[in-house]
Amino acid sequence: MVHTVPKLKDSSLLIEKCYVNGEFVNAASSSTFEVHDPSTGKRIGRCPEFNASDTEKAISAAAEAFKYFRRILPRERSRMLRKWFNLMTENVEDIATLITWENGKPLADAKGEATYAASFLEWFSEEAPRTYGDTIGASVPGNRVLTIKQPVGVCGLITPWNFPAAMITRKIGPALAAGCAVVAKSPGETPFTANALAELSRRAGIPPGVVNIITAHKNTAEVGETLTTSPIVKKVSFTGSTNVGKLLMKQSASSLKKLSFELGGNAPFIVFDDCADINAAVAGAIASKFRSSGQTCVCANRIYVQSGIYDQFAQKMAEKVKEFKVGFGFDVGTTHGPVIHGRAVSKVEGHVKDAVSKGAQVVVGGQKMPDLGDNFFQPTVLTGLKNDMQLAGEETFGPVAGLFSFETEKEVVELANQAEVGLAGYFFSRSVDRIWRIAEALEVGMVGVNTGLISDSATPFGGVKQSGFGREGSKYGIEEYMIIKTITMGGC
Ligand code: NAD
Repeated sequence: MVHTVPKLKDSSLLIEKCYVNGEFVNAASSSTFEVHDPSTGKRIGRCPEFNASDTEKAISAAAEAFKYFRRILPRERSRMLRKWFNLMTENVEDIATLITWENGKPLADAKGEATYAASFLEWFSEEAPRTYGDTIGASVPGNRVLTIKQPVGVCGLITPWNFPAAMITRKIGPALAAGCAVVAKSPGETPFTANALAELSRRAGIPPGVVNIITAHKNTAEVGETLTTSPIVKKVSFTGSTNVGKLLMKQSASSLKKLSFELGGNAPFIVFDDCADINAAVAGAIASKFRSSGQTCVCANRIYVQSGIYDQFAQKMAEKVKEFKVGFGFDVGTTHGPVIHGRAVSKVEGHVKDAVSKGAQVVVGGQKMPDLGDNFFQPTVLTGLKNDMQLAGEETFGPVAGLFSFETEKEVVELANQAEVGLAGYFFSRSVDRIWRIAEALEVGMVGVNTGLISDSATPFGGVKQSGFGREGSKYGIEEYMIIKTITMGGC
């Protein structure tokens, strides 16, 4: 079957360069890497293979730009972000096309992501003028004490491929609102969405050097090391896997940077028998588990269902999953796309095989889909999951719903909290006292109660334990890019 990628309305948004100091440039070496459509394997284009010295140039550009950008009035920064938001909104279809092309998610989901991504620029355009200091009663006679907030400086940002637009704006939005300049390394799998956003930032009048977006594939570790060890970079914000987060933290220690890390999850999704509406719980679990083919950091990974409703829940979930239409993201009717690459398919397949070898049953799915392409895996529901299976211990990051049975509230809270990570957790219950108990007991940064979808630019996003630290979005997001300075005046 021939799959057609729609033409961009504005073809100048497909950019095969990096954005440094207000210009689109190649690597000094002219070296490039190829980017492929995960659905078809076809080449989309090439992007510059930046190395350490290219990255240093971008850092220097950001440092120069920071000198004046930090002095621009917050209201003016707000207007720039608002213009960027408007341009994203006007170009939402092209951005969605780029997302689907390089990430594979269905076009409707990509449009949802583009809109969500733009909402961070809107939100932080509104937050820019709303940072406040304190006046503090001094302990020393004659002293007056106050605090001011200032931008932290040049920021190094590193983002993953699963939300090619939203992970970028969720970091750059608050950074610019605070008055920082940034060097963002976009993911090697999905650089074109980020490049289109860079072009829109240019059209929005954001001054040269304030936003720099760079790409690397083979040289990723070198670029990461340059960003994390540069004494000019004062803050690193990273979204990605826990292992890479730990490495970046070690590297950042040499210059003690301010850090925020949004790392991996392994979300528990608990369905109590007092959930009242089992269909709503199934719908919540499906929305949480299968969005982006299970490749979201907040997606349900361990689905715990109380024993009395377990069979009914499994059957209803399987029926819904059978209705999915897996395919090419641009085809009308496609509900679920591929996973990102062969390594991801192997991990998903490995988790299914491991579970089955230890006694789990495949209710639906369970296989690769070679007829569609190398990166497709059937949406899968497994029952009979046990604690010793790989799926219990690490995120699958793919379209596999593993259902565990539990008896008591105490037991399930212990199971939910046994994970080393703690990003999101969900549960369905209509009992008011239980809702408070469980929401407070789950060791996660975000809890969804009777809902499977929790992301919103207005709310704090982030984890605990090995899911990292720091919060993005919300009124707290901008704080990650500011420092508090205390000013004490004597002799007053
Ligand atoms: P990854 O950690 O391999 O890559 C993330 C980013 O880091 C990419 O841009 C990659 O190029 C870059 N990177 C990899 N090695 C690097 C290095 N040595 N130095 C500098 N940069 C490096 O993760 P992934 O597989 O691409 O993404 C999936 C992971 O991200 C999952 O674990 C998921 O849970 C997590 N994630 C977390 C959140 C969140 O907000 N907590 C959101 C999305 C994804």
